[in-house]
Amino acid sequence: MADAASRTPHGWRPQRFMVIAAHPDDADFGPAATAARWIDEGSEGHLVCCTSGDAGADDWRADPLELATRREAEQEAAARVVGYSGVTFLHQPDGALVNDLVLREHLVREIRTFRPDAVLAVDPETLFYGDGGVNHTDHRASGLAAVDAVYPAARNALSFPWLARDGLEPWIVRRLYLFWSNHPSAWVDVSGTLDRKLAALREHASQNRHPERLEGRIRDWEREEGEAIGAPAGEAFRVIVIEEDAQEDEGPTHDTPPQTEGGDPD
Ligand SMILES: [Zn+2]
Repeated sequence: MADAASRTPHGWRPQRFMVIAAHPDDADFGPAATAARWIDEGSEGHLVCCTSGDAGADDWRADPLELATRREAEQEAAARVVGYSGVTFLHQPDGALVNDLVLREHLVREIRTFRPDAVLAVDPETLFYGDGGVNHTDHRASGLAAVDAVYPAARNALSFPWLARDGLEPWIVRRLYLFWSNHPSAWVDVSGTLDRKLAALREHASQNRHPERLEGRIRDWEREEGEAIGAPAGEAFRVIVIEEDAQEDEGPTHDTPPQTEGGDPD
């Protein structure tokens, strides 16, 4: 955690952004308040859930298909609270998500269809949350799949060439915003939309075993993340700039290091 108020709030805003999540509720525990803020300011957001959360129950007698149907409905309700323009479910198996070519093709199809400037996903390098927990295997797989779909597959004309033949032209995503990261580099002030995040989380009733504790937990979490920028509430991201902005549309902050990777897509 940075020293209190030692940083400038992150000010760049994508016109179009896509959140790629493993399970219904991940996007709402993750960057929901940032998504709500950007949408309020004029951005358009689309949510992709790789699984439908069909393993998210404590009772082994639960019917996975019924649970998936319920959780999709919960996520769609939460997405309306946040303001996403759409939600796609890829129906991959909960607990068995793999960053393979099948998942990558699904994600490239979504990216080339929606054409986001930024993709938000779990930081795939987060195996442990500090020393306080394990990051679910699906979270890591979804994060790595999102990164691999953004670069190079979505922008590479010869990746999944049948997509281009179907009219889905290669698309360059300019930035990755990685959440649940142990290496945050940008903090968004979400004081104005924290309540929307809480309202979205309340829609996931099948997962809220202790709803009375949830609000306090989230408020504490966002207060801690806001401390870096001296805001009452914040959301932290590790921002990867893949494509620099043209001078005229650069946002008010320049808080990411210069990129070091080569420009070759292979
Ligand atoms: Zn999850």
